[in-house]
Amino acid sequence: MPNCSFEVKNASSVDELMTILGAHAKHAHNIEKIPPDVVEKVKKAIKP
Ligand SMILES: [Zn+2]
Repeated sequence: MPNCSFEVKNASSVDELMTILGAHAKHAHNIEKIPPDVVEKVKKAIKP
Protein backbone atom coordinates (compact mmCIF):
# COMPACT_ATOMS: atom_id res chain seq x y z
CA MET A 1 0.00 0.00 0.00
CA PRO A 2 1.35 3.46 -0.78
CA ASN A 3 2.29 5.37 2.33
CA CYS A 4 1.90 2.28 4.42
CA SER A 5 4.63 1.03 6.67
CA PHE A 6 2.76 -2.11 7.59
CA GLU A 7 5.00 -5.11 7.30
CA VAL A 8 4.20 -8.74 7.65
CA LYS A 9 6.88 -10.71 9.28
CA ASN A 10 6.98 -14.34 10.21
CA ALA A 11 4.68 -15.34 7.39
CA SER A 12 5.67 -18.76 6.15
CA SER A 13 3.90 -18.63 2.81
CA VAL A 14 2.41 -16.25 0.28
CA ASP A 15 -1.06 -17.47 1.19
CA GLU A 16 -0.56 -16.68 4.83
CA LEU A 17 0.91 -13.32 3.99
CA MET A 18 -1.96 -12.42 1.69
CA THR A 19 -4.45 -13.34 4.37
CA ILE A 20 -2.77 -11.09 6.90
CA LEU A 21 -2.28 -8.30 4.39
CA GLY A 22 -5.85 -8.61 3.18
CA ALA A 23 -7.19 -8.20 6.69
CA HIS A 24 -4.94 -5.20 7.26
CA ALA A 25 -5.93 -3.57 3.97
CA LYS A 26 -9.58 -3.96 4.79
CA HIS A 27 -9.36 -2.60 8.31
CA ALA A 28 -6.69 0.05 7.90
CA HIS A 29 -7.31 1.22 4.35
CA ASN A 30 -10.88 0.22 3.58
CA ILE A 31 -9.58 -1.73 0.61
CA GLU A 32 -11.46 -4.89 -0.28
CA LYS A 33 -8.93 -6.17 -2.74
CA ILE A 34 -5.19 -5.68 -2.74
CA PRO A 35 -3.93 -4.15 -6.00
CA PRO A 36 -1.95 -6.55 -8.21
CA ASP A 37 1.20 -4.43 -8.08
CA VAL A 38 1.17 -4.63 -4.32
CA VAL A 39 0.72 -8.38 -4.50
CA GLU A 40 3.78 -8.60 -6.72
CA LYS A 41 5.82 -6.56 -4.27
CA VAL A 42 4.70 -8.77 -1.46
CA LYS A 43 5.65 -11.92 -3.32
CA LYS A 44 9.09 -10.54 -4.13
CA ALA A 45 9.58 -9.64 -0.50
CA ILE A 46 9.24 -13.26 0.51
CA LYS A 47 12.49 -15.09 0.53
CA PRO A 48 12.35 -18.83 0.82
ZN1 LIG B 1 -1.41 -0.39 5.67
